[in-house]
Amino acid sequence: MTNDPLHILKTVYGYDAFRGLQGEIVQHVIEGNNAFVLMPTGGGKSLCYQIPALARPGMGLVISPLIALMADQVSALRQAGVKAAALNSDLAGEDRYALWRDIQDGKLDLLYIAPETLLRGDLLERLTRIPLSLIAIDEAHCLSQWGHDFRPSYRQLDALVTMFPDTPRMALTATADEPTRAEILSHLQIDDEDAFIAGFDRPNIRYAIQEKDNPRAQLKRFLKGHEGESGIVYCLSKRKTEETAAWLREQGYDALAYHGGMDKADREANQARFQHGEAIIMVATIAFGMGIDKPDVRFVAHIDLPGSIEAYYQETGRAGRDGLPSDTMMLYGYEDIALRSRFIEESGAPDQRKHMERQKLDALLGLAETAGCRRQVLLSYFGDHCEPCGNCDTCAEPPQLFDGTIAAQKALSCIHRTGARFGQAYIVDVLLGVESDRVAQFGHDQISTWGIGKEYDNRTWRAILRQLIALRFIDVDLTGHGSLSIAEGGRQFLRDKPTLMLRVPSAPRPAGGRDKMS
Ligand code: ADP
Ligand code: ZN
Repeated sequence: MTNDPLHILKTVYGYDAFRGLQGEIVQHVIEGNNAFVLMPTGGGKSLCYQIPALARPGMGLVISPLIALMADQVSALRQAGVKAAALNSDLAGEDRYALWRDIQDGKLDLLYIAPETLLRGDLLERLTRIPLSLIAIDEAHCLSQWGHDFRPSYRQLDALVTMFPDTPRMALTATADEPTRAEILSHLQIDDEDAFIAGFDRPNIRYAIQEKDNPRAQLKRFLKGHEGESGIVYCLSKRKTEETAAWLREQGYDALAYHGGMDKADREANQARFQHGEAIIMVATIAFGMGIDKPDVRFVAHIDLPGSIEAYYQETGRAGRDGLPSDTMMLYGYEDIALRSRFIEESGAPDQRKHMERQKLDALLGLAETAGCRRQVLLSYFGDHCEPCGNCDTCAEPPQLFDGTIAAQKALSCIHRTGARFGQAYIVDVLLGVESDRVAQFGHDQISTWGIGKEYDNRTWRAILRQLIALRFIDVDLTGHGSLSIAEGGRQFLRDKPTLMLRVPSAPRPAGGRDKMS
């Protein structure tokens, strides 16, 4: 076999050119370097290790957690004339012996193996005596406790570093935010300069995020720009899914529901109708996702806060697989933040997990509250980057900023003076000097912060508080009452008093207006 990567690409795979960073990665590994490869699903990670394994002397060892996937890869490779095999635990007796002979005789280009199998008995030890071209660790995020797929056996792969010091190591994954990435690099001792991150941008997808004001009116306005098109509306709960679908039908749309509580048969029927039909709106919980490969999903709307930036990226990513312009809209409000915070606090998860979930929520809120390009924030979460895109709401209409330093000080001091026991609505009442029974009952019409915020209206104060929550100057609620308290970031802000620029809330849109969504 020649070791020219482009020749291998053409003769073995029948492709004319490398995609994105593939060529660079392949060359880097052929030269004997380690590599960390972060690319979205479908980005073409497999070639990144298969071609160097073919180009370099020795057998490529591929560690993959999914036996079914392994079998598919191996049979596809064999059809292309590559000597590939999988060593898994059901392989016994004669077959196993024959495979091991092939390995020893240097007859294999690629050996796929599950981590559990690799770590059993003295297999690793025996492999040290086989010339290896590289070791590729697929789905490398399984190694991270930070990620959602942690597998203890992946942790033991640390041993590869010392047992195979001269063999290039590759770690590949589609899902890795900054902390996951750092964990993978440190465990497998791969340097930062060996990290390749790319291909997360979906330029045909337009991103827009709005404050949740009147979700149905906002959704209706969004859908006006998409008459005759198919799309997905994501909701948090099963009930809301049903209710929203029914409401959309009343509005004259062909809307279906999809959630985990439905009969399997109904669910499948709805999915099939969506898949093959035209101008159908699927109103769904996150249960709807796997296995959708409708190329012409023209829009995705989140009328509740998605689970995380990864979830948002995956879910919006179901739009526009055909590469044509596609539109997305996410709504988020204070209630979503409070609810999500409560989920996290009441989850009963270990502290470390809670801490991680809080950080993921913060990152999502950061995306929602950014005054910069949404795509830049989104891609930077995955370590990828782009110029301001011109295809998101903040690029199209840069949000106005104002000096919110004094406003933030007033809000924090009002929370402090009222004893950190009250929720957003009450704090805003006190800031505005509202004379309600409740305010009088607590004597808060007597305190110094009563009525100090009359320069802004209710809506603006809510936007200010939301941004302070997103900045983690304010903590929401630990018990379910939604009470606000000053967080460490807020205390530091009060100490240092740096200038704080905040977003002016976007002008409220008239409900049911004819304005095109922007
Ligand atoms: P991933 O593992 O990143 O999810 P795959 O390696 O399975 O992605 O590749 C996704 C698809 O793209 C496969 O069908 C693959 O054959 C195809 N592909 C990969 N690289 C190229 C390329 N350079 N040119 C054309 N098609 C490619
Ligand atoms: Zn942009």
